[in-house]
Amino acid sequence: MKRLICLLLPLLFLVGCSQTVTAQYYMMDTVMSFELRGEHAKEAERLIADEIAALETVFSPTRDDSELSRVNQLSGSATPISETFANLLQTSLSAAKETDGAFDPTLGGAIKLWRQGSVPPPETLDALVTGYETVTADQNSVTVPSGLTLDFGAVAKGYASDRAKAILEEHNIPRALLSLGGNVYAKGGGSPWIVGVRDPNGEASDWLGLLTVQDCFLVASGDYERFFESDGVRYHHILDPKTRKPAQSDLRETVIVCDSGTRADILSTAMFVKGSEGAIEFWEKSQDFDMILVTNDTVFVTKGIAVTFELTNPAYRLEVIE
Ligand code: ADP
Ligand code: MG
Repeated sequence: MKRLICLLLPLLFLVGCSQTVTAQYYMMDTVMSFELRGEHAKEAERLIADEIAALETVFSPTRDDSELSRVNQLSGSATPISETFANLLQTSLSAAKETDGAFDPTLGGAIKLWRQGSVPPPETLDALVTGYETVTADQNSVTVPSGLTLDFGAVAKGYASDRAKAILEEHNIPRALLSLGGNVYAKGGGSPWIVGVRDPNGEASDWLGLLTVQDCFLVASGDYERFFESDGVRYHHILDPKTRKPAQSDLRETVIVCDSGTRADILSTAMFVKGSEGAIEFWEKSQDFDMILVTNDTVFVTKGIAVTFELTNPAYRLEVIE
């Protein structure tokens, strides 16, 4: 009898550990796909989906009943906010300052205008109320000037991926790949993941290179994600807060690799706005993340991930940022 138990135990352990759960959702206005391995994978997957759905009720810019919509409707007066809202708002305001306003969570008005799919009249853009410096907030309330609209579209998915990572840890999930739109969290118990970096000049399934990652967040922003064309000009969804128009960047795509999903998401947008020169200057000062910057003909890769990145498309030249 003793022998049987000994044989059975490792077998049960193997069966338990090898459970792979996959799921797909449409949440936060994007397709999300999850792959988790481990004994408690099913439970963790459900909790992650529930958590993201709950965050959507806080940060959705399109749902009238979200906390964000309520705060925006009450602009001009102090409005009570939840702890979750206060946390992401504080992080966003600090990041706006750190990036010299390249990332700015107060562009809601401009974002709505550009989403309509036509070029807004200059006087309408000029009349918008924006500017992160005008927002005052503490842990319990926020006050924004009348008419200002907050928007967390450049950071909410990253924040959600941080929460998802915490759930993976609580459930001892050894291996997982979570993709929340362009926001990826790769947890590689044992062997690393190989992730394709999208070719901005190609179709959605074309990549220009491969990056090998383990236990990190990887967030991409690009002008191919959401855009419309008018008179041969491409108007994409990443705005320069100074002009409230699509950023005139030499970059087509940015990929940030770091240990925080929130930071990776913020920086993917901010580095795009800054352009290659500004982004490299910013990285030289902080150096707490890695990045890939893609122009029409060059792929810049910071030294920390240079050895794990393989350029596969010969149309681009590779430059390592030291
Ligand atoms: P995606 O949402 O496609 O993953 P990003 O993370 O770059 O891409 O976020 C872009 C979204 O963030 C836009 O759709 C808009 O809602 C908002 N946004 C655009 N420009 C800025 C900016 N400079 N700062 C903050 N938010 C922005
Ligand atoms: Mg972003």
